[in-house]
Amino acid sequence: ATPTALLVGTGRGAQLGLLIKGPEILESTRKVDTVVLDKTGTITTGQMSVTDVVTIPGTSRDEALRIAGALEDASEHPIAQAIARAARDATGPLPAVESFANREGLGVEGVVDGHGVQVGRPALLRDDWGVTLPAELDAARRAAEAQGRTAVAAAWDGEARAVIVVADTVKATSAEAVAGLRGLGLRPVLLTGDNEATARAVAAEVGIDEVIAEVLPADKAGVVRRLQAEGRVVAMVGDGINDAPALAQADLGLAIGTGTDVAIEASDLTLVSGDLRAAADAIRLSRATLRTIK
Ligand code: ADP
Ligand code: MG
Repeated sequence: ATPTALLVGTGRGAQLGLLIKGPEILESTRKVDTVVLDKTGTITTGQMSVTDVVTIPGTSRDEALRIAGALEDASEHPIAQAIARAARDATGPLPAVESFANREGLGVEGVVDGHGVQVGRPALLRDDWGVTLPAELDAARRAAEAQGRTAVAAAWDGEARAVIVVADTVKATSAEAVAGLRGLGLRPVLLTGDNEATARAVAAEVGIDEVIAEVLPADKAGVVRRLQAEGRVVAMVGDGINDAPALAQADLGLAIGTGTDVAIEASDLTLVSGDLRAAADAIRLSRATLRTIK
């Protein structure tokens, strides 16, 4: 391959809003057949908000928000920040938290107002703390997940007391971006730590049928490795700190420009505007550049 053509390709990439780390990256893009897309912050905006709080009798909405929000305020997770914000908006300054512990990709626990509190994935509360959702909360969970929303369970003193529903928004251009990838003969795969039902609902909205859900942050790179072991050449698109190892493991790592610095550093190419349609542009550009060379 002539270096000149690759450099021209890199320059053309800049015009398309693609920041390419080195000209040689355009060559490695050529064989990609699978594009793994992170859900939160990549397919969706990642700007979460609380849409609903469902409680058991005897627990008020504000009490649930205040206790869960106090705990979540100590976490930087976008879901946690949305809950803390809703709690502050509804009830004012939040109580202090003692013995806080974060369970990466799962939830948080600690002591608020003398209560032992757990907030997070319903399956985590069930498996690790033996707290199951009563029928009315479980129905709220199922309804939320069917709509592509995330149900967060809140328990204190050993009892599940609320489901807090958090919604994210699919980016306006995500469906078109997925169609563009398909048009290039690529297989899109949605990868997320979120639950299967939520992931499927979001995938259906943008036209993806292959979903790998409930993957812990530490296991995302392993999923990419497994796809590679099946003979697939994998591009990964992600934005978060937890996507960085998977971006590095992929044959081609694409970072969302509005995402974290860690993800940008771990990737080969950055989609500057955060518009997912640029992922297809990158692959189209690489193919065109290499055709020029031959
Ligand atoms: P993603 O892969 O979509 O970026 P994560 O791996 O960060 O998601 O989190 C996976 C899931 O774990 C979330 O969808 C949520 O259900 C749960 N979770 C993680 N952290 C928290 C938290 N601080 N509070 C509530 N739920 C959480
Ligand atoms: Mg993400």
